[in-house]
Amino acid sequence: MTLSNGATPPTAGTSKCLPTVTPGECFWQIARDELSDHRSTDQLPEHSDIVIIGAGYAGVSTAYHLMKEGAATKTIAILEARGACSGATGRNGGHCRPDFYGHIPTYMDRAGDRAGAEIAEFEIANLRALKKVIEQENIDCDFTLARSVDVWCNEESATKAKAVYDRVVAAGFEYMEDAVFYTGDQVEGICGVKGAKGCASFTAGTMFPFKFISHLIRGLLAAGVNLQTHTPVTSITPDPQGGFIVETLRGKMHAGNVVHASNAYVSGLLPEYSKNIIPCKGICCRITVPEGVTPPLLNNSYINRAEDNTLSYFVPRADGSIIVGGAAAVFRPFKHQWYDNVDDSVLIDSAKDYYDGYMQRTYRGWEDTGAKVDKIWTGVMGYSYDSNPHIGHVPEKKGQFIIAGFNGHGMPVVWLAAKELAKMVANDVPFEDTSMPRLFQTSQFRIDRAQAGKEEDGDILGTGKLAATRP
Ligand SMILES: Cc1cc2nc3c(=O)[nH]c(=O)nc-3n(C[C@H](O)[C@H](O)[C@H](O)COP(=O)(O)OP(=O)(O)OC[C@H]3O[C@@H](n4cnc5c(N)ncnc54)[C@H](O)[C@@H]3O)c2cc1C
Repeated sequence: MTLSNGATPPTAGTSKCLPTVTPGECFWQIARDELSDHRSTDQLPEHSDIVIIGAGYAGVSTAYHLMKEGAATKTIAILEARGACSGATGRNGGHCRPDFYGHIPTYMDRAGDRAGAEIAEFEIANLRALKKVIEQENIDCDFTLARSVDVWCNEESATKAKAVYDRVVAAGFEYMEDAVFYTGDQVEGICGVKGAKGCASFTAGTMFPFKFISHLIRGLLAAGVNLQTHTPVTSITPDPQGGFIVETLRGKMHAGNVVHASNAYVSGLLPEYSKNIIPCKGICCRITVPEGVTPPLLNNSYINRAEDNTLSYFVPRADGSIIVGGAAAVFRPFKHQWYDNVDDSVLIDSAKDYYDGYMQRTYRGWEDTGAKVDKIWTGVMGYSYDSNPHIGHVPEKKGQFIIAGFNGHGMPVVWLAAKELAKMVANDVPFEDTSMPRLFQTSQFRIDRAQAGKEEDGDILGTGKLAATRP
């Protein structure tokens, strides 16, 4: 691989803890942005008050909010192992869909009703905050606010889903007034999915994440933030004089504080998280129809579970194409293809053909459209042992912060999480005084539970039996 300035990116060889040097091609990044290989200065700065590791949604949003939270007088550097926004954020589905009732009952069981509701409320607030900033700053990122339709094609699963929905409604959470669930003969006609047995809907958003992040980066650079792409960080060591020595494959620099926003790869620098945040691959594709064909309009986003319960998310685009991904049930049995795997240069072999003919077999009226997969790619997510992200002070490492482990669900979480973390970093605000859901707080308890627990007891393999969140 050659960078846009003609240089070759540094490489540490194959490491589970660093991103692969050359990710596979992805629809969102076909037209390489001039920011992808940006370096604000030829050499690393000698010192920055705050060093952020990772230029994805979490790292860039944290820098944005730090500037707004009164850290504008501090120097900020973002060190990114590959190109800007080349990780999960630049390779995802663009579905910004708050969780209303999916995992919420699990969190209610583990930590009480309020702890579960806090997460749903935070994600809904996150979507609204995104809409607001996109409007205020006139950000060109294909944002839409529409309904997200949840579909179950398996009768038994639809019945179970309805029971879960009813439980959350019965808990009396006000936000559920925006959700509706349908059963009976009309379901297929309501959602347009063949064989649907149950469906629900609520407000959600869709967007082009790479464009959103690029906009934020331009603003940060104009405000003096130092971005260093193709700069993998290899270690953080406390400096006896104060602060930290940050070692990279391009040399060292000094940091006052460090923010770990490296998501799936976070345990490379913070090994205590090696059982808490596991790199797991996902698959995503773009489906198009031949020129001149006008298929039935689909202007809602979907989460669709087929008769065999294989789940796909679905994001329609104004250009007529569709972004679809998921299919985890198809590749889950082949653990080595997705679990603890950072290779986003290759597809997931067992699932690479799943979306061939997907529109024809799934949606009413699409049978003769000629829809086919135009681009397909993989990306690496940071799956969390208890499904919740880790945010806040790294235990026992004063001056270091973490914002990682978004469990394949960062779009409706990261923006406000970064805003609240920025308050902690810039103004010493304790986690408890932020508006973050309590279950997002990183803690020694969560670290130890995963380190001591069995892999199959956590949520990642789908066999989890975690009980209460606090001892
Ligand atoms: C295929 C796929 C589809 C998805 N679809 C959706 C969706 O539709 N909706 C949704 O909500 N979520 C989705 N997600 C998840 C979502 O993309 C993530 O939750 C979110 O982007 C996480 O942002 P991040 O900044 O934490 O991580 P990333 O975007 O991965 O950023 C981390 C960055 O850190 C860098 N880095 C790592 N290690 C180092 C190091 N040592 N030194 C320097 N830099 C380093 C990486 O190169 C990377 O750029 C999907 C993910 C994938 C892979």
